[in-house]
Amino acid sequence: MTEPSTVDTPLKKLVGDKTAKALAAHLDLHTAGDLVYHFPRRYDERGEHTDIRSLDVGEQVTVLAQVQRTAVRPMRQRRGNLLEVTVGDASGGSLTLTFFGNQAWRERELRPGRWGLFAGKVTEFRGKRQLNGPEYVLLGEGGDGEVAASDEIEEFAGALIPVYPAAAAVPTWVIARCVRVVLDTFTPPDDPLPDGVRASRKLVGLGTALTEIHRPSSKEALHRARRRLKWDEAFAVQVTLVQRKHRAADWPAKAREAHPGGLLDAFDARLPYELTDGQRDVGVEIAGDLANPHPMHRLLQGEVGSGKTVVALRAMLQVVDAGGQAALLAPTEVLAAQHHRGMLDLLGPLGRAGELGSAENATRVELVTGSLGAAARRRALGEVASGAAGIVLGTHALLYEGVDFADLGLVVVDEQHRFGVEQRDALRAKADQPPHVLVMTATPIPRTVAMTVYGDLEVSTLSQLPRGRSPIASHVVPAAEKPAYLDRAWRRLREEVTAGHQAYVVCPRIGDGPTSDEEPPPEDDNGRRPPLAVTEVAPLLAEGPLHGLRIGVLHGRLPADEKDAVMRSFAAGDLDVLVATTVIEVGVDVPNATVMIVLDADRFGVSQLHQLRGRVGRGAAAGLCLLVSEAAEGSSARERLDAVASTSDGFTLAELDLEQRREGDVLGATQSGHRSHLRLLSLRRDADLIRDARAEAITLIEEDPDLTGNPALAASVAALVDEERAEYLEKG
Ligand code: ADP
Ligand code: MG
Repeated sequence: MTEPSTVDTPLKKLVGDKTAKALAAHLDLHTAGDLVYHFPRRYDERGEHTDIRSLDVGEQVTVLAQVQRTAVRPMRQRRGNLLEVTVGDASGGSLTLTFFGNQAWRERELRPGRWGLFAGKVTEFRGKRQLNGPEYVLLGEGGDGEVAASDEIEEFAGALIPVYPAAAAVPTWVIARCVRVVLDTFTPPDDPLPDGVRASRKLVGLGTALTEIHRPSSKEALHRARRRLKWDEAFAVQVTLVQRKHRAADWPAKAREAHPGGLLDAFDARLPYELTDGQRDVGVEIAGDLANPHPMHRLLQGEVGSGKTVVALRAMLQVVDAGGQAALLAPTEVLAAQHHRGMLDLLGPLGRAGELGSAENATRVELVTGSLGAAARRRALGEVASGAAGIVLGTHALLYEGVDFADLGLVVVDEQHRFGVEQRDALRAKADQPPHVLVMTATPIPRTVAMTVYGDLEVSTLSQLPRGRSPIASHVVPAAEKPAYLDRAWRRLREEVTAGHQAYVVCPRIGDGPTSDEEPPPEDDNGRRPPLAVTEVAPLLAEGPLHGLRIGVLHGRLPADEKDAVMRSFAAGDLDVLVATTVIEVGVDVPNATVMIVLDADRFGVSQLHQLRGRVGRGAAAGLCLLVSEAAEGSSARERLDAVASTSDGFTLAELDLEQRREGDVLGATQSGHRSHLRLLSLRRDADLIRDARAEAITLIEEDPDLTGNPALAASVAALVDEERAEYLEKG
């Protein structure tokens, strides 16, 4: 291998056909670049670190350990012998390796005193942990042969042994060996970090970093390598976002200035409550954005119940006053319908143009959903196309189904965690010039996530709840340990109903029949029973603990008109109890509902539970949320529930949620083995680094908005954008 290799050199030219095939098939590694960027998951140190005692049964592990003794015994059930090798490490723990069949050579090779790396799946046999027929490589003198020996000795002496994300067919030391071969000839790509940034942030060069992360000469060198490579990740993301923001700010948009004496003023005059300070401040920010000849891209975050809807409606009215139209996109038809009712109520005669008793400068509010009949739909679309409908409500499908607007000036996206560039591109196609965009979310977003995922948006926060809102008390009901508590929970629910209030019962699953996208992802089935289902729980409750109450059922598989009918009768007080999936998670607003019982609460995420319980305590009466779970005390599932019960601070819970998730998932990236551009960066642990990278990105984009002076950086940004686009397309 004298020819230099680059990121694009195919692995089969470097490591041999068979190995290259295995790397491709099992780890999706095809080029030298893929392999060099396949970073170790951790590093083992001889005699330290590899704590055998902490291995969990069922885990796929690689341990560094020393052979203590070997024993051969005949097998009971079959002919032949069993070789048992006991290995141990400095933790004092030991592990049994078992090999079947006559393997005298193996016994000779695995002499007591020898160190090796052993890889396999941990099983338990008669209370002892073991690896059956593990892959292994011995370290130090002689060893099992030519290939391993010299390299591993060197590696071993280096003290820090990389452990790679591996597959059974490609154990970590095979990867290490390949990496070594590749690094010997590897010419790193041009450094994407501008020299100035590298110097001022004291970052090592890319070549050094790539070598040291695989073959660290010391812990300090490893730290420097990781820091440098994290910078690459953070910087590429931030430059992408800052550049995007910079460009979008240059697009032309129609300014939609406020018109004193118009609809908005009339609306403010008839509002039944006073705006909170937060609502007013955010309103001023948005009004200013809308009056700009460049499109607004603003994220409005505010706790459940903080009153985002009225903020959005006021922005929409400003646009209508300026002669344009505004659309609000909700995540579900139930919510779109609820917004329709709510806005019609708030607007009164201002929203009923053309009807008897409407106000003079009134507009129309149209709901466009898939469940409209053909005639109603045609009529609604006509109003949208003519511009008669100033306000249009629907789901995201509005963007993609041939809905034509006369003059779309503002799009409000409700309860959305992510509204990416592609969606915004789709929007731009809806109007001559890009409309203003307001994204609203009740999921509090930790700062680093805001900087990374929403780094191209302005962020406003509503931190205050309207006055008169009651606190929600939350408790965990340990159904397994204390079944009597569950009975008490149902009794509490009945008491609330007797007092004239209403209740939610939430289940993680709909029930038999085709699955819907509202179902939670299938759980790891570690022998757990399937999650409780709405369609199964509702009849049981009706016959049992909730006998005699008026119970409704709501889930994503009901036809839209039925969903709407159920929501209506619940809102009207014709139902006492709503048994539902997370369909009620976002935005549903029934102030008379005071208690929520979440069944199998451990099957929901922390933020999701926080959202869910925001459905109760929206009126004057105090809210109660009971989290029913069979998770054992002390388990991590139970700890999460205790955390939800113990705080009502959404930001704290969002941070906790972040800890639970893999970082990649936060960016919406790739579960299916597809590589994420965030390999090392942790949104939680690297907050400072991300902030610094953002600051550098802002400076750079101001000086060099198109990155013409930084071609290597431009290339890595382009790769990132491609990757993101590919992910977006994959997800449809
Ligand atoms: P969210 O931010 O969760 O979308 P909503 O907009 O649905 O919250 O508002 C929750 C409830 O608070 C609604 O019933 C709404 O009418 C009411 N509300 C909003 N703003 C105020 C206010 N300033 N004073 C009193 N009630 C308000
Ligand atoms: Mg809302």
